[in-house]
Amino acid sequence: MVLQSCKRSLWGGTVGVWKAIRNGWENFQSHSRFIVGDGTRVKFWKDLWCENHSLEEVFPTLFNLSINKESWVAEAWEEDGVGGSWGPRFSRHLNDWEVGEVESLLGKLLPMTIRRGVDDSLQWKENKNGTFSVKSFYSSLSRGINSPFPATSFFGWEAAWNRLLTTDRLKRFGWSIPNRCFLCKIEEESTDHLLLFCEKARMLWLLIFSLFGVQWVMHSSVKRNLLGWHGTFVGKKREKAWRAAPIYLMWTIWKERNRRTFDDIERNDQDIKSIFLYTFVNWARAYIKDHTLSLIDFVDWLATK
Ligand SMILES: [Zn+2]
Repeated sequence: MVLQSCKRSLWGGTVGVWKAIRNGWENFQSHSRFIVGDGTRVKFWKDLWCENHSLEEVFPTLFNLSINKESWVAEAWEEDGVGGSWGPRFSRHLNDWEVGEVESLLGKLLPMTIRRGVDDSLQWKENKNGTFSVKSFYSSLSRGINSPFPATSFFGWEAAWNRLLTTDRLKRFGWSIPNRCFLCKIEEESTDHLLLFCEKARMLWLLIFSLFGVQWVMHSSVKRNLLGWHGTFVGKKREKAWRAAPIYLMWTIWKERNRRTFDDIERNDQDIKSIFLYTFVNWARAYIKDHTLSLIDFVDWLATK
């Protein structure tokens, strides 16, 4: 009981941060503001980047007249020889009474500038030092954080995890939180630990290798593993399954990590393996186009070239 409440308060900060991220972009965004770099990832009208309100809120009339309501900050910036200036575009010529609003808009934009070669970043309102690159997080969210992600977004996910979704990174950005793996509770959490070396991850990697009946030497980083993860030697029939397997492994580990982080619920090893196998076989049912495929059938199917 004491341990429980102690744990809760210890992890309280983390849970707050993660809940916000998990609840999706809207929620996440409401706690943060953008620091514009090259302006390619920040919405000119809709995001909070200039003073304390979105430009859509402050200038509703101009927003309605804007050509592209989803445009990026970079698109409103016009480069010239010396530097550049702001030139938001509107769908028609402005009336006299609208010109004043544009002046006021340009006045607000005046101190802002585009910095080529600098990534846009996000700053938590709660924490003045809490900036981090938003590129990978933004793209991972726009792909949908809860859907089973396709293999093509593989590296996007890897990057997203690497940059953002582990506590070692958060810590570097100024959050004072214990940096311990949620799965083994022993090692420090990093992407490579969580997805490759943690005993829970290893358990699933070994399961994959035994399902396919292959020997595999793990590289020291997630990235190198994924880059070297070619499926030719498992045979044409199984190649897609081989390539899909790490995705479901990572997904399973990630889900389990989040359950432990947010809900304080732990699955045992057997259940973790089952979850992995069931998500994997579900994928296979769509791919192999046999909806009656049982888990045993699938394991048999995987075992032969
Ligand atoms: Zn671990």
